[in-house]
This record gives sequence, structure tokens and C-alpha cells, in this order.
Amino acid sequence: MIVAGVDLLVAPSDLRPGVDVVIEGGRVAAIEPAAGPRGGDDVLDGRGLLAVPGLVNAHTHSPENPMRGLGDGLALEPWLARLMGESGPYSEEDHYWCALATAAELLLSGCTSVLDHVGMTPIRDGGFDGVMRAYRDAGIRGGMAPLFSDHDYTADLARSLGVSGVGETLIPQQVPAVPTPEAIALTEDAIDRWHGSEGGRLHVLAGASGIQWASEELLMGMADLARRRGTTMQLHVLETRVQDAACRARFGGGSGVAALDRMGVLGPDVSMAHCVWLDDKDIALIAERGGVVVHNPAANTRLRSGRARVLDLLAAGVPVGVGTDGAASSDDQQMWFAMRLASLLHRGPDEAYVSSPEALSMATTSGARALGVPGLGTLDIGAPADIALLDRTTFGLAGARELEASLVLSETGTSVRHVLVAGDLVIKDRLPTRFSISDVHAAIAEQRTRRLAVSPAPEHPATLARIEATRAALAARDGRRYFA
Ligand SMILES: [Zn+2]
Repeated sequence: MIVAGVDLLVAPSDLRPGVDVVIEGGRVAAIEPAAGPRGGDDVLDGRGLLAVPGLVNAHTHSPENPMRGLGDGLALEPWLARLMGESGPYSEEDHYWCALATAAELLLSGCTSVLDHVGMTPIRDGGFDGVMRAYRDAGIRGGMAPLFSDHDYTADLARSLGVSGVGETLIPQQVPAVPTPEAIALTEDAIDRWHGSEGGRLHVLAGASGIQWASEELLMGMADLARRRGTTMQLHVLETRVQDAACRARFGGGSGVAALDRMGVLGPDVSMAHCVWLDDKDIALIAERGGVVVHNPAANTRLRSGRARVLDLLAAGVPVGVGTDGAASSDDQQMWFAMRLASLLHRGPDEAYVSSPEALSMATTSGARALGVPGLGTLDIGAPADIALLDRTTFGLAGARELEASLVLSETGTSVRHVLVAGDLVIKDRLPTRFSISDVHAAIAEQRTRRLAVSPAPEHPATLARIEATRAALAARDGRRYFA
């Protein structure tokens, strides 16, 4: 394949106008001066187009697709209780269509890689396979990290605060806790069958839901699995003040990040979604261990979790990727919007700011660290040929004065005309080449209707009440606000 006569942004601040990009074996093989008009099946006319590295969505949850707009204004804990209590079960086919919808929304807007942190339903019933089949069929570079939980430490926190009537959990789980040996066996089975397939395009990661919902055995077992099998791991870390309080109650006053380090979990192969409530020591520790943070600005703002210390993390040299998070908390899968927020949220009169080249790097190369794919996120020679081709004559770019700033601050993804993943043309003239977009829309609409009819468990109102009582007790103890 040759993309002919294109303006190529190899990486932020490295624009090569009017070149032919030669793709071989799914990678950029050569970048040559444009040879003039070409024809043939293996030539894509790039004249008038801007080729940029495909964006990397480093954190989402595909099962949230049919649950958009849920609980506007709620903070994470009550929102999560509603999500888990009101979504109902997911079959393997449900997972397939949710993941395909995620891939479709991402690919159509020029995002070529996704890290899907998958939970919501008994993963033992084929959920893994549904997700991986979808990413295989869509043609996206897809990674799946399982979201296993085995203990709710926020419930322990509630008990320690003397909140009455607390049952086994604060967050109602559709899925019973999965014992660590079973979680590891299920993940390893998925690694055996899917990891590295489709020419290395598909990834199975190790994973746990979050430090506040996982035993040390599960966290350490998953980190060990990732290292034994040469993959990476993802988990949620310190998204809310309640989670920070739960960690400090559990770990003798120490932070969740310090605890992860004592367990040997922190490392360059482990990505941590959110990291909103880090202290200075946490940031130094993550930098020292080479850990990867994934910033989710839309979800953190929407759920009133707080503003992650992105500028401090970047200053410490931590790779910070960008994620949309799930479609029930963000409430879309638009990486251009997430990237723009990652730039705009971290500006104030007295602080540095996330520049557009930095924001582009966050949404490409830094996010790629979470998937562990060397070279992914640039279009250097030898890099994976994951390319978004944008029309330079439409709204986002037609009036572009400074290119990187226009991409981050002006483009919405609507300029994307063609998309290549590993050199395969998966979006052509704004349409998927491998699946029907109307089938995807119909499947999500059907799930939405079915899930609207789900009756929450009888204890659901009591769970929400316990969450609010816990938050009130925390606020009284600490003399600070825990958003409700
Ligand atoms: Zn998440």
C-alpha cells in the first residue's frame, strides 16, 4: 500500500508535506518525495489530506454503550451503584455489539487503538470472546483488560466509620467476586487464544477493577501474570476521595500507590486509570517506577471526581495517556474531545499548561505505552501503519493557522476521511469497510430498550442510602467535602 501525495505529520512538530508513504507488513516502510499521480489497487490518493498517527484510547469500558447519560450530576460512587444495579446481564453477543460499537465510534473519528477494561457481567460466560471477536472483526488495534474484583474495601471503610446497616458491599455487583486462581486462569486462557493474534493487532492484558476492589492476592497475581506472559496490566487507581480514604484506612494511613509499590505491582508495564488523588510522594514513586497514568478528563469532570495532577505528572516525566472512559460516564467515545479537555482543563493564570504537541503525544505515544506496542503512536519508519487521513478543507482544519493547535483545539474528528490500521483500510470515505454501521446502531438500540426494563435488586435503594451515609460520615470526620 502507498498513500500518495499526502501531508504527513510523523509526530507532533514533524510535518512532511507532499510525500508518498510506503506501507509494508503493516508498518511504515518508507517516506519518499511524492512521485506524482499514481494508479492501482494498492495506492490511496492522499492529495489534499493530512495523515496523522491514529489516536489511542487508553481507557474505556465498552459495556457502557447502551447506558449513556446515566445519573447526570451524581458522583462516582452513587453513579456506579446505579450503573451496576440498573444495567442487567450481558451475554457474549451483548459484549460483541458493545465492543463493535466502541470500535466503530473510535475508528470513524480516527482513533485506531483501544484499551477496553471489561467488566459488568460474568466474564466466565464468554464475555472475553465477545469483545475480542468484535475487535478482530472491526479491524481496530484492540486490547482487553479484565475488570475482576474480589473485595469491596469501601464497604470496610463504611464499617470503620460506624455506618449502620452496611451489608457485604457498597457497590452492588452483578458479578460475584471471582477468586484469584479462577480470575488468573480465565485471563491466561484468553491470552493463550487471543493475545498477539491478527498479526499482533489484538492484545489481552492482565487486569483488576481497582485497588479499592481487589485483594493483594489478585493484584499481585495479575501483575505476575502480565510479566510471565509478556503483556501489560491495567487497573483503576484513586479516582475519588472516597477511594483514597478507603486505601488509607486499609493500608495503615499509607496511600494506595505506595501499597501497590510494596506489592511489587508498580512498573512500566502497569497503567493506572485516573490517579486523581495522588500526593507528592505518589507522583515521585510512579515516576521512579516508570508507571503509566491514563487521564480521563471527561469522566473525572462529569462525575465530579476532581482534576488529576496532570501538569505535575508530566513535569515528573510520567507518561500520561488519555482515555474517554466508558460511554456512561463521558458520554461518548470521542478522543478528539478527550484530548482537547486534557489540554484545556490544565490551564490557569499561575500554572503551566498542556501544550497542543503535548496533548497529541498524550493521546498517541503515551497512551500506546499502556498497550505496550513499540513505536505505536508515531508514523516514523518502522512504526505500525495506524493512520488517520483528515480532509484539510473542512471545518477543523480549513482555517488552521498552527497545525498542532488546530488539531487539538479545533478538530472534532469530522474531518477524518480514511483510516488505516496496520496498513489495512478500515474506514474508506467515512464508512467502515468491514461491518455495517446500521447493524451496530440497531444492536445498541435494542440493548438500550432491554436494559431500560431491568428492575434493580430490592436492596438497591438501601445501597444508595448507605453510600450517602458513608460519604456524610467521611465528610464529618475529615471536615471536607465529599461530593454527593
Ligand atoms: Zn474506568
